[in-house]
Amino acid sequence: MSPCVPCRADRREDETIDELLTTEEAAAELRVSQKTVLRLIRSGDLRAQKVGRSWRIRRHDLPCVAGETDAGSDAIYLDDNASNPLHPAVLRLMSELWAGPIGNASSTHEIGARSRAIIEDAREGVAGLLQARSNEVVFTSGATEANNLVLRGFRFAGKRLLVSAGDHASVRHVAQAMSGDVPHSVVPLNREGVVDLDTLASMLAAKDVALVSIVAANSETGVLNPIPDVAELVHAAGAVLHCDATQWIGRLAFSMEELGADAVSLSGHKMSGPQGVGALVARRSILRALAPQAVGGGHEDGIRSGSYNVVGIAALGAAAALAADPLVADQTCRVRDRLIDGLSKAGGTAVNGIGADRLPNTANVRFAGAPGDAVLARCRGVAASLGSACHAGTIEPSPTLLAMGLSRDEAEESIRFSVTRFTTLRDVDVAAARIARAVAAIRALEEVA
Ligand code: PMP
Repeated sequence: MSPCVPCRADRREDETIDELLTTEEAAAELRVSQKTVLRLIRSGDLRAQKVGRSWRIRRHDLPCVAGETDAGSDAIYLDDNASNPLHPAVLRLMSELWAGPIGNASSTHEIGARSRAIIEDAREGVAGLLQARSNEVVFTSGATEANNLVLRGFRFAGKRLLVSAGDHASVRHVAQAMSGDVPHSVVPLNREGVVDLDTLASMLAAKDVALVSIVAANSETGVLNPIPDVAELVHAAGAVLHCDATQWIGRLAFSMEELGADAVSLSGHKMSGPQGVGALVARRSILRALAPQAVGGGHEDGIRSGSYNVVGIAALGAAAALAADPLVADQTCRVRDRLIDGLSKAGGTAVNGIGADRLPNTANVRFAGAPGDAVLARCRGVAASLGSACHAGTIEPSPTLLAMGLSRDEAEESIRFSVTRFTTLRDVDVAAARIARAVAAIRALEEVA
């Protein structure tokens, strides 16, 4: 193991706190087994004090991998699927608008009227991106709200709901929450992470389903679902298709008409726009029948009340004009593939969902024998994500990866890398080398445990 070099953050902490940890706590911090911690103590690599039958360890004695842990804000950002960097043109527009006055878009004076015009321009921009009509766009605070609005507001009239195992929590958890009133079933994924069309067809056979919600592109693997095939099955069964296209829109073209989606959710910060704004885009007949979830001043035709987020909506419109550029898709794909090549030098790697069509920027990579949380804890010089959800302080392996048939261990050894439109080849070369070193360090610890 490399010499025990306290990282800068730990040294600072040491000046104020001399915190003692148990071996169990140290194991949790290091993200290794307790057995590994005891081995490190016995070999002299980790300083500890024997108190009775147990060991006490000072926090600042915990080992770090030198040069990797204190990269701080210089970290290479490979977490585009969590939130995209704002496009400079969008930022410029937002700064100009914030300089104001913005007013309230419902006010009758000229400033209010100008804000209304800004909103209507943005509405046309978003509709144009999806080849929808502008009266089919309902602005929301993001995709979570759009998913909630369409699922909770839909009139099921005694019929069922289907969601996919690869859907975002804002669909799966809503379906669960509604299950007392609306029965639902979960469409499974195949080994590549694509919805299983045969099972979907059999779930639709009884023609007792009103709404099917299928994620267009999975946020963790980037795997794309075959939306036209899904739409054909759904429509043949007389049901409505909602697609959470949050990760797709912005990166690839999404025509509602061509793909056959009846309702679509999208989010500003997944298309180089700001956080806190998004939209539900749906056929008028669906919107007219929706039960509003936010009732108030009657904004958005009474479907979603609340004062307009004028600057956010304007930014969403500007982002729509920049979205789905095929040149950006080609470039991110080249950078992403170079990252995969670099990461493969770590050995024992596998790309989850490799056999399926995927977003051009996403690589969900498994490093056999190296838990992903431990790798990322060692390698703060790279900002990437575990394919996992953190609930109440416990890390659960990614439901998507489990639904694809990965074991719990395999899911926990997986990391999601997602390159941005600004990520360079050099960035991914450096990031891959850092990750490979961290993987080697973790494997060395795991082997001796
Ligand atoms: N759906 C998908 C597929 C997502 O990836 C996300 C964001 N992680 C959401 C919905 C939620 O989007 P928002 O942050 O706008 O609420």
